[in-house]
Amino acid sequence: MADNWTNLEHKYSHIFERNKDYGHAIELITFHDGWFNIVQTLLEELSNIQGVKINLIKEKWGCLRIQTHTVQGDVARALCSFAEKLSEKTCSKCGKAGTIQNIGGYYIAICSDCIKN
Ligand SMILES: [Zn+2]
Repeated sequence: MADNWTNLEHKYSHIFERNKDYGHAIELITFHDGWFNIVQTLLEELSNIQGVKINLIKEKWGCLRIQTHTVQGDVARALCSFAEKLSEKTCSKCGKAGTIQNIGGYYIAICSDCIKN
């Protein structure tokens, strides 16, 4: 996993409930750097809400999925939903506006420029 994601996971380790030995709490690869700002902003906002615990942040069907067992209250839940929705419309490669495309059987949120490469 790229350094920037590892650093982010470390910075917000207090809101991840996952045991360090069990694997990464952010299960994204370098390919998803276009979502870095979304995830960073989400974690920053969630860290201000008491009692929020995130189990896993990953990609599924071309967009972000935030798994949590202990999110309490409408604000935290809404923030997670917002981040997931935003990822559907954000190129996972570069961060520009994109849409979910089926590329060789894989769903990827991608922009018109990145899809050419
Ligand atoms: Zn792009």
